[in-house]
Amino acid sequence: MNKCYSLVLLLIGSLAFAQNPNLNKDYRAIENKVIEWRREIHQNPELSNREFKTAEKIAKHLKSLGLEVQTGVAHTGVVGILKGEQDGKVIALRADIDALPVYERNDLPYKSNVTSEFLGEKVGVMHACGHDTHTAILMGVAEVLSKNKDKIKGTVKFIFQPAEEGPPPGEEGGALLMVKEGVLKNPDVDAIFGLHINSNTPVGIIRYKSGGTMAAAQSFTINVKGKQSHGSQPWSGVDPILISAKIIDGLQTIISRETDLTNEAAVITVGKIKSGVRFNIIPESAEMIGTIRTLDYDMKDHINKRMMEMVPAIAKAFGGDATIEIKDATDITYNDPALVEQMLPTMQRIAGASNVQTQKAVTGAEDFSYFQREVPGFFFFLGGMTPGTTESFPHHTPDFLIDDSGLLLGVKTLTEMSLDYLNQ
Ligand SMILES: [Zn+2]
Ligand SMILES: [Zn+2]
Repeated sequence: MNKCYSLVLLLIGSLAFAQNPNLNKDYRAIENKVIEWRREIHQNPELSNREFKTAEKIAKHLKSLGLEVQTGVAHTGVVGILKGEQDGKVIALRADIDALPVYERNDLPYKSNVTSEFLGEKVGVMHACGHDTHTAILMGVAEVLSKNKDKIKGTVKFIFQPAEEGPPPGEEGGALLMVKEGVLKNPDVDAIFGLHINSNTPVGIIRYKSGGTMAAAQSFTINVKGKQSHGSQPWSGVDPILISAKIIDGLQTIISRETDLTNEAAVITVGKIKSGVRFNIIPESAEMIGTIRTLDYDMKDHINKRMMEMVPAIAKAFGGDATIEIKDATDITYNDPALVEQMLPTMQRIAGASNVQTQKAVTGAEDFSYFQREVPGFFFFLGGMTPGTTESFPHHTPDFLIDDSGLLLGVKTLTEMSLDYLNQ
């Protein structure tokens, strides 16, 4: 490449990455701190609803910045409120802070050697979903914005949320409990932003989708009742195993024959079936459990309604009875299309237009959805894969790995999205 040409490219490059010039100094100052916080948090991970030390560290930091701080929100959550010098709207930024019961296998100077107990078993504890990076990034955003109160027209609410991975059985927690405790009120939040680091997306890249982005997760339980008989004389009983097979078949036709899959994806999975004791007895009952994933509210309603109708009807057709119960686990992570449209220019300005890419929907779930059910929100994915590498390690595994060099882009993006949203 000739020199002149590369100079032009360099110029275009620096223009494309233009950020608020007044903040450059603050960004330069914050990167090492964010990386250091991230490593400390990574080395000291805590399980869902047990994030005591992590919360303490966050609260201490927010107080040192002069923010109004609430602790113990939804058990271990921390909320910081930063008022700008002028009145205006209220933007919320959310980071989740919990780790997972996973033994870390990475050889890192800040590797986690922490162990704990989960459901009566000894487990390793690891930030195997990258919530350590989310926490450090948001601590960094809080520091940069608190130094620039004069540029803020309105209020920024920093929400550090526990238990995104789900509270332990029998406990409440996560985004749902935060909403219940009024985290989006007083001052009332107008919009919310959040990000998730991604181990499979290169550093420097941001990915997003407008509309349904991550699925609503629901669980269901089906109880089938038949009539017990000798295995050699099926005509004298009602076979709940055969009925279960027909029900599974029927449920899959809701997806394949009744759902407009060109609109959004949808999934019904039966994950467990339990019935019977031995080869020559037709048992009395069967139980099935499974999950439903949807990305569109109307499709979700239709699928739920048809499951409720179909399960007892199929059982009845074969002489038995069946009940079904559907429970919500998380809602649809739904990116408000107007808000996405509004914030896209900011993202493109910060990351460079070609580095902001659209992506397919994810059938995994995120409890950020509970905030988006209340107020418009935008949740996007930040690259955390080492540039130039081809191998990435999936979330929730012992080898999960995030490159620290991707964190600053997260700080810049959330900072400038907040400023632009409030000042527009
Ligand atoms: Zn996760
Ligand atoms: Zn996660």
